[in-house]
Amino acid sequence: MSAPEKSHLFYQSRQRRPVLDQAKGVYMWDVDGKRYLDGSSGAMVCNIGHSNPRVLEAMRRQMEKSTFGYRLHFETEPAEKLAAKTAGLAPEGLDKVFFVSGGSEAVESAIKLARQNAVAIGEAQRTRIISREPSYHGCTLGALALTGYAPLTAPFEPMMRPMPKIPAPRAYLDGLDPDDEATGFHYADMLEEKILNEGPETILAFIVEPVGGASTGALVPPRGYMRRIREICTRYGVLLIHDEVMSGGGRTGKFFAADHWDAEPDILVISKGFAAGYVPLGAMVAHKDIVTNVLDAGGFLHGFTYAGNPLACAAGLAVLEEIEREGLCRNAENTGALLKSELEKLMARYPIIGDVRGKGLLLAFELVEDRTDMRPLPKELNAYNQLVDIAYDNGLIIYSRRTRGGYRGDHFLIAPPMTSTPDHVAEIIEGLDLSLRQFLDRMSQQQAQ
Ligand code: PMP
Repeated sequence: MSAPEKSHLFYQSRQRRPVLDQAKGVYMWDVDGKRYLDGSSGAMVCNIGHSNPRVLEAMRRQMEKSTFGYRLHFETEPAEKLAAKTAGLAPEGLDKVFFVSGGSEAVESAIKLARQNAVAIGEAQRTRIISREPSYHGCTLGALALTGYAPLTAPFEPMMRPMPKIPAPRAYLDGLDPDDEATGFHYADMLEEKILNEGPETILAFIVEPVGGASTGALVPPRGYMRRIREICTRYGVLLIHDEVMSGGGRTGKFFAADHWDAEPDILVISKGFAAGYVPLGAMVAHKDIVTNVLDAGGFLHGFTYAGNPLACAAGLAVLEEIEREGLCRNAENTGALLKSELEKLMARYPIIGDVRGKGLLLAFELVEDRTDMRPLPKELNAYNQLVDIAYDNGLIIYSRRTRGGYRGDHFLIAPPMTSTPDHVAEIIEGLDLSLRQFLDRMSQQQAQ
């Protein structure tokens, strides 16, 4: 059964997909019984796989006790336990946790906490946050102002406060060596230049996705970059916010991607893999001094109704326990290394693949017209949709977004659950191989017409 002809639902577009019946582990089935390998964990969400019995049991137990306790009326054990566990996983000093229900809410919370901290410490002239281009930080107006992605922001720009942007360190497009520290410094120093040009006393924070997500396609920062931006932020009293909505939760091989570089942020935000799709959940984790400043100055003027609800927190706690119990960060690292090397083998066979990148199981490949100058495929080809649809028909789910509007490239995120095995890797590569072949056939047919 496909989706009904007439539906009262709407999302971004008119595109319809089959109706989901059930999901287990790395697989999903539609109501016609067709099986899909979830090669992108939804939108990099279902990190521990679908229908994990221990998580379902923890949720069931909590549901029987209580599903909601409003935070101004009650504290709850799951929220307290999950906050403690999250703080334990976060970088040194970041031990205050504020719960939300998703990534955009987490980013909004970070914007407001940073602002209230500045006011509290007598630096009220700091009102702007620097971010990168391209980047994605969410769809609510505050988070959208930080998002560097013109196709999403353009209609709303007259309604938003313009926020300064610096280029994301896409060394592979600029012909620079990401393993050379000089490359990292080259891009990081653009932050210092921007701060100086804008006026350091006006800058509240810099926000960065440690490993990029949908906007840059699993971009890993060049050597030296993360440490250098930390130093620059400290030099100018600018807070460093890590947006780990996608990179957090273990799929880069560490629970927080920040830990790959000891690049201690002042605030970090997490969602997606935090409760791995079992419930909507996210968090802002902040340095204790910032929280002390804000609470001492009269309180944090911010909060969402569903914050810290016990069912969401019980699910989140069970997810974190599962990640620990099954050693899923280690598995993400090992299986990710295998998957990346297999993607590189595909790249050797398909000149249309211009780059393979990422960390752990947050991986991507990018299609290009010409690998020598990384020229993108013609926009009209609509490669990002075509390849996704072909793979989907072949029972493989991958995630794509063309960074158009002045940006270059069609990249595809390959990010299966952290429970994936070498057999799943083989199945993903087989599906991609078949899909790329069909895509190229289709391209030559289109060109022949
Ligand atoms: N930040 C990043 C890095 C993201 O990848 C996303 C979601 N793709 C968001 C923020 C926004 O999260 P949500 O869609 O849950 O609001």
